Amino acid sequence: MKPSLILAALFGLAFSAAVPRAEAALNVVTTTTDLASIVSEIGGDKVTVESLARGYQDPHFVEAKPSFVLKLHQADLLVLVGRDLEIGWLPALITQSRNARIQPGADGYFDASLTAKILDLPTGQITRAMGDVHPLGNPHYWLDPENGRRIAKAVQAKLAQKDAANAAYYAQRAADFDRRLTEAQQRWKSMMAPYKGLKVVTYHRSWPNFADAFGLDVIGYIEPKPGIPPTPQHTLDVIQAMKAQQVKLILVEPYFDLKTPNSIASQTGGKVLVLPPSVGGVKGADDYLKLFETEISLLAAAIKATGAK
Ligand SMILES: [Zn+2]
Repeated sequence: MKPSLILAALFGLAFSAAVPRAEAALNVVTTTTDLASIVSEIGGDKVTVESLARGYQDPHFVEAKPSFVLKLHQADLLVLVGRDLEIGWLPALITQSRNARIQPGADGYFDASLTAKILDLPTGQITRAMGDVHPLGNPHYWLDPENGRRIAKAVQAKLAQKDAANAAYYAQRAADFDRRLTEAQQRWKSMMAPYKGLKVVTYHRSWPNFADAFGLDVIGYIEPKPGIPPTPQHTLDVIQAMKAQQVKLILVEPYFDLKTPNSIASQTGGKVLVLPPSVGGVKGADDYLKLFETEISLLAAAIKATGAK
């Protein structure tokens, strides 16, 4: 075979190997499964998307794996929750990725919190004093479907900017997602309507947006501060508050130890419900819409089991 033919054969091989990737225009990495689900809703088959964290992990404390660096190295776009949620594990990975496209400030560094409604914003000086892991407002904002809508809209704009050829495709998918979300919201709200104002206690401060969206009243937390494990004195305070206000439901994220919640439940006649805050956190919560579907079904069943009307 002539050298020119060998070259042609090699070129042909390289070209055909490149074809499957050419189908998906953008390689997106997200920090969490919730963001991956929303990106997938908008990006469809024009993007590949992968989450670094798993849905059953505490997103504040994800164990960084070497494979994350490679994924970030190859990413065209990094979508993160922001508000310091990933501060303990993401910044070093971004540096190690040596990928200029996704460095903070670059075009491919996309902070999903920028257009979201953020609760628990600090009023005084911003501080991580005493280990509070929510110094820039509450980072669990994706748990309000209205924020999901805002994130989806911002993702659509970003994908269209990075891949203008498919802008109409992203717009069509975003409109479809918006419509399905609106329909689902009406159903969820009517499922939760009978329990409006129901008082609950939660382990971590993961649920203020969810509580606002669906009419729950969170009266206390098992953690004394976000990220700080329970202390005996604080646990006594929670028990007293639950007794005084006749609170019967304790919501616990899947990655926390159940010892303290179970002990509180047994002293207050309450019930512990493990509730997943993220897509993939439990079986069935397979995408952003199914996450709320799962949460609301679990909640409604647990509320009924406590005897609340
Ligand atoms: Zn948190």
